[in-house]
Amino acid sequence: MNYKSLKGLQDILPPDISHWHHIESTAQDVFRRYGFREIRLPVMESTDVFVRSIGESSDIVEKEMYTFEDKGGRSVTLRPEGTASFVRAYVEHHLYNNPSPQKFYYMGPMFRYERPQAFRYRQFYQIGAEAMGVEEPELDAEIISMLSVILQGIGLEGLNFEITSIGCPRCRPGYRNALREFLEVRITRFCSDCQRRYDINPLRILDCKVPSCIESRAGAPPVLDYLCTGCEEHFGRVIKALKLLHIPHTINPGLVRGLDYYTKTAFEVTSESLGSQKAVAAGGRYDSMVKEFGGPPTPGIGFAMGMERIVPLMKHSVAASGAPDLFFCPLGSDALEKALLLTEQLRAGGLWVEMNHDISSLRSQMRKANRMGARNVIVLGADELSRNEVVVKNMMAKEERSARLDRESLLRALGAER
Ligand code: ATP
Ligand code: MG
Repeated sequence: MNYKSLKGLQDILPPDISHWHHIESTAQDVFRRYGFREIRLPVMESTDVFVRSIGESSDIVEKEMYTFEDKGGRSVTLRPEGTASFVRAYVEHHLYNNPSPQKFYYMGPMFRYERPQAFRYRQFYQIGAEAMGVEEPELDAEIISMLSVILQGIGLEGLNFEITSIGCPRCRPGYRNALREFLEVRITRFCSDCQRRYDINPLRILDCKVPSCIESRAGAPPVLDYLCTGCEEHFGRVIKALKLLHIPHTINPGLVRGLDYYTKTAFEVTSESLGSQKAVAAGGRYDSMVKEFGGPPTPGIGFAMGMERIVPLMKHSVAASGAPDLFFCPLGSDALEKALLLTEQLRAGGLWVEMNHDISSLRSQMRKANRMGARNVIVLGADELSRNEVVVKNMMAKEERSARLDRESLLRALGAER
């Protein structure tokens, strides 16, 4: 048998995992300071949860969902993103009864049946945040600021923060008409997907990645010109707050998010170093979604960042935790027993300790210690046992010091005493 992982899915192995840990712990620390608490959601939902919120004409629902029937004949879908599941949980558990704003974050795998390529996988990981119950635009700026603090904390540089407003149910019909009017005379130049979108949801055409569609939609009316007074004021205050907080940003009226539930503020963080898969994180407001899920009208805003796109942007190497503090080389079966006991005791004292489990030659044991990059090595033979004393070889400093064969003296010799 010769199994391989499925196409578009990948194993994350050491030492790469250190980068993942660094991203996760940086994000968690920032979330704590901003009052966000973790929520863990299932990786599967009823298919409807996604279809109704993300939208039938979105790329995700049209082409990318892992949908199947379970043994009970229900249509279930592996989550393609976190917000729909989150809002489902928010309404199901009546979380809107708690004081606002309520702030949550999640981390975990998402699934989309996409064409695998660099930085685009079928299982990928997101860290996302959602803040509920505040409609004021200053919160939008705070959320974008938090995202920027996280990305900076991870050590990313040269990112672009792009922002726009995509209006609300009040101004969108007017915009949709204007867009249809623009598209009407040109629609035959668009791909067949877009021709279908023209009837269902023409806004989707603005997000199509087919080059000829991008070309044909040049000159389309920008949504920013069609905002109602409320949305315009909201957007103005977001931009004002971003300036106040000194967050560099670009207004990009062409930014359209791939999900239908967004209202007002939408934003994306991009990096030119990622080539065509340049979105590192993205988010926006979704003020109508809780109501659509059967809850009381509750505004919300959130974002999600993609782990697989952040890791390759991390220039500095994360402190390698790839080497044991100590490696025991026991010579003989008595020594092996003693090494086993001391290994456990020193681990309890906080050190990463490894030992050799067979009684092979000293040479081969030393080779193993070197391959692991052990910082210290102790050779334990009959002589050491009878004298109750060993030599601790510091492999980095090329120094030796002796220690008695007990936990305290060893911890001291290893510089780890409490
Ligand atoms: P794209 O335009 O690249 O397809 P998207 O708009 O579909 O992105 P979102 O749904 O906004 O992406 O997801 C938020 C983030 O999740 C993206 O900015 C990206 O970092 C990451 N992401 C989305 N899809 C994938 C994928 N297939 N593989 C890896 N990361 C992904
Ligand atoms: Mg996509």
